[in-house]
Amino acid sequence: MLGRNDLCPCGSGKKYKKCCLNKDMASERSSRKVGLSQKQYYELYSKISEFSRDEKFKAEYDKARETFFIMEDEEINSKFERFFNTYFIQDHIMENKKVMTVEFFEANRDNLDMVERDILRSLFESYVSVYEVKEIQDEKILLKDCLNDVELYTEDINLLKDFKVGSPMIARVVKVGDINILIDITISISEAIKDTIVNDIKALFAQYEDIYKDMKTFLIHHTHILYKYIQQLLEPSIAEYLKNQRAEKASKAEAVEVCESDDKVITMLNQNIEEDLLQSGIDFWNGYKAANGEVKGAENGWAAGVEYYVKKEAGQSITQAQIAKKYEISPSTLGKRYKDLKAE
Ligand SMILES: [Zn+2]
Repeated sequence: MLGRNDLCPCGSGKKYKKCCLNKDMASERSSRKVGLSQKQYYELYSKISEFSRDEKFKAEYDKARETFFIMEDEEINSKFERFFNTYFIQDHIMENKKVMTVEFFEANRDNLDMVERDILRSLFESYVSVYEVKEIQDEKILLKDCLNDVELYTEDINLLKDFKVGSPMIARVVKVGDINILIDITISISEAIKDTIVNDIKALFAQYEDIYKDMKTFLIHHTHILYKYIQQLLEPSIAEYLKNQRAEKASKAEAVEVCESDDKVITMLNQNIEEDLLQSGIDFWNGYKAANGEVKGAENGWAAGVEYYVKKEAGQSITQAQIAKKYEISPSTLGKRYKDLKAE
């Protein structure tokens, strides 16, 4: 063991107690604190996880899987089970408009200790985002949230030891006690990928601005988008699959260019809906617009609502989750639009 009066292992030539001892002790204290926070988080996480597997949540579980996963390949999807579990517990909005953590909180209100309450409060607000290392200090790292323009410190530095100032990543921060830990897997990404994701998400947010009051609220409701990027980044066959899908969509869009329309909803229906229902979708949408005048809100929400409506009318067994996924919106947004359209 290294004694206080031994030479410091850093090679300074000074005694350990006059050199790195204090720093080493501080970093040990800090990593013990991080370890404790992680333990507290994972204990609560497994409780919620167990709670979420109750038979009464089975239908929600299936719906969440449909929204979360991109491909129907069990072997590939099994790699993302851990992410899915976090999504299901913290992000999936159920029919009753609640997420599992809220459901858990309400069912266990009287049996939770202070620490658990505290973590739950942080979980209600937690989301996946794109971060960048802003500053590296001895016991903590300053992260900049590139989507939300806020900065925060994390003490979870072991996880980030290969990161440098400027390194971009996808991460999920949860506050436990007075410490921010990084849950799930923190993924290092390239500068180019960072820019793509940030631009995509900012553009999406712009479409939804009238629905969500700020970027944070938008991100809390759309974590599945970031989880989809994660799946693409970690699994090349998913990236390939999506590339082919995009190409297919593009060629379909080209084929129907003759009926190119100023109305983006119609353009989207053209690209998405099967040919046998396309005309009734367009007719229905035109009818709705004629009756309601100017329609506000993101076009993909409306297009999704129209597709769901005409498929229901045609007697197809289709879920809101399937359609929502296709248009990259949340099932609750689709639900809202469907309600609007149905009221007509
Ligand atoms: Zn030293």
